[in-house]
Order: sequence, then C-alpha cells, then structure tokens
Amino acid sequence: MDLPFGKLKTTAIGSFPLQHSIEKMQRALLDQIEAGINFPSVPQLLDMNLMFLEPLAKEGCGIEIRNGNAWITSDLKKPKKPIAVEFLEFTQEFLKKSDLLEKIDGVKIPVTGPITLSSVTKITEKNYAIEFSDFILKFSEIVAEIVRYYDEFGVGLITIDEPALGYAIWLGTEEDVIIKAIDKPIEAIKRALPSVHVCGDIRTVANLLIKSKASILTHEFKALPKNLEVYSKEMLDGVDKMIGLGCVNSRPDPQLLLDIRDKKKNWIEAVEPVDEVEKFILEGAKRFGLERLVIVPDCGFGGMKEYFKDDTGQKIASQKLKNMVEAVKKIEGKINISNVERT
Ligand SMILES: [Zn+2]
Repeated sequence: MDLPFGKLKTTAIGSFPLQHSIEKMQRALLDQIEAGINFPSVPQLLDMNLMFLEPLAKEGCGIEIRNGNAWITSDLKKPKKPIAVEFLEFTQEFLKKSDLLEKIDGVKIPVTGPITLSSVTKITEKNYAIEFSDFILKFSEIVAEIVRYYDEFGVGLITIDEPALGYAIWLGTEEDVIIKAIDKPIEAIKRALPSVHVCGDIRTVANLLIKSKASILTHEFKALPKNLEVYSKEMLDGVDKMIGLGCVNSRPDPQLLLDIRDKKKNWIEAVEPVDEVEKFILEGAKRFGLERLVIVPDCGFGGMKEYFKDDTGQKIASQKLKNMVEAVKKIEGKINISNVERT
C-alpha cells in the first residue's frame, strides 16, 4: 500500500480496557468504527506477549510456558502453520458480516516485536533472551513469519510493538542487531502499511528507528511532548518516513481515574476536548509536517482496565478516539494537505 502521505489517516494502538470475551471484542471494534477510525485495530484484550508465546509453545517452537512465564527450552523455530490468527479472523468475519468493511481503509493488527518477546522469555532463572543477540534475531525470524501471514491475509496496517526497545539499548545490544531485528518483520510486509510503535521516552531509540525500514514511526507525544523534539521534518523528508502522532493521553492521571471510579468526578474529565487535540495535532504538524502525520492515541488503552469494574474505561477510550477523529475533520476543513508535494 502507498504511504498515506497528506491524508491524515487515523488508527488505534490495539488494547482496550475490557476483559477478554467475544462480546467485548465486538464492542471494541464497533466503538472504533463508530468513532470513524480509518484503520481500526484488531482488539488486543489479552497479554501482548503471551498471546504470541503461548501458541508458539503449543506449536513446539522451542518455548514452554511454566507458571505463566515463557522459557526457551530448545532451539527456537518458526511455526509451521499460522499462529495467533483467531482474533484477526474474528475481526474480518465480524466486519464482513456487519457490512462494515467498506467503512474503513483496512484492518490494523498489532504484533509484539522480537525485542519485546525476548525481554519476557527466560533462559535461566535470572537471564532473559534479550541479553543475547542470537535469541533476539531468532525471535525476529519467528515474528517475520507471523507478520507474513497477516500481510497475506490482507490487513491494511501492521504495527510492530516494541516497548522494550529502550531496554535493549540500555543493555548495550549492538545497533545492527536491533535494526536487523526490527527490519526482518518489516521486510515480510509486502502489501500492508509497515509501522513500529514505541512508547515512553524516545530519545535513545529514535536515531535507530530512523535507520530502520519501518515507514511509520508511532510514538507517545501527548503525555510526553518532549518527544516532539526528537525528530524533525528534514529528518523525515530525508528518509521518507511518517510519524504516528500520539495525540490523546492513553494513561490519564491515576488520581483522576480513582476519583472517576469513586464518582467524585465525571469520566469526561479524563478526555481531551476536540480543540485541545486539534491544537496538539497542529503542533505536531509544525514539527513534522501535517502531510507526514498518521493520527493515533499515545498507546493502547488497556492500562485503564485496572481502575474500573464496569465499562467506564472503555467510555473514556472511545470518546478519546471520537475527539481525535473530530479534530482531524476540523483540520481537514481548514487546511488542504492532499496537494502537498512529497519530497
Ligand atoms: Zn505503547
């Protein structure tokens, strides 16, 4: 797929504050579509690591799950058949059945990256696979295999989630190992839009990602506006990459969430008003060029799950998505970006 240059497309990161069930998957999907998201994500309501490591263990890929922890117990091997596909198949089937496929640009799927999978997989009681380049690279071949299937399935956008990237750099993992680990799954994407998501402080990871083959670099900016200073338009023009601009906070202030839970405050207080989101997107545009933006929340919304027994967290998440899309519409009403030349 051509990069959505000058189109200000919207997507979500993937997790939602809902307990895993078929009904809740439907809810998370419908909420995204109702908000008007261009690339709704396959809802990620389970642990982002185990949802890949468990099926790898089941397929005999050299991993075992013991007391909820993944262990490497023999040679890491690529799965012989597609794994972790049931939620994608469910999403596709549900959207088709509900005549909703025409409403969207494509389905987005989040895939946990090799560095992050290595960071939670043990090789001894004290050591994790991330400490060894060979294991990271083996995991990248496995993730590439998973990604290849998703791409052939026909998804619109694939994001490799690498929250542990900063940790790998901190451990002193060689730069070329990290770039290889990220590029391998990205190279397996032939049709979908290839993206990487890393949240938190990106100062140490950005100069690596800019050298990677990922076309869309997605980060947390709203809660960490310092991240805006890390890339510039010149840098992005030079390598022809786009920025997934996190423009709504996915981790609202804990005290505010507790007050909402205790009915001392209304849930709407955790949602940025449309004007605030619009202003923030325009700030990102000043830095990166409006034409180089994809619009996203800072991260997944799953973290809010622990605060609420009911669906208040999901109400907050959906309203944030709605306001994000509204902000995009307002900007589109004022500025014509589709005719900006790609340099
Ligand atoms: Zn994140």
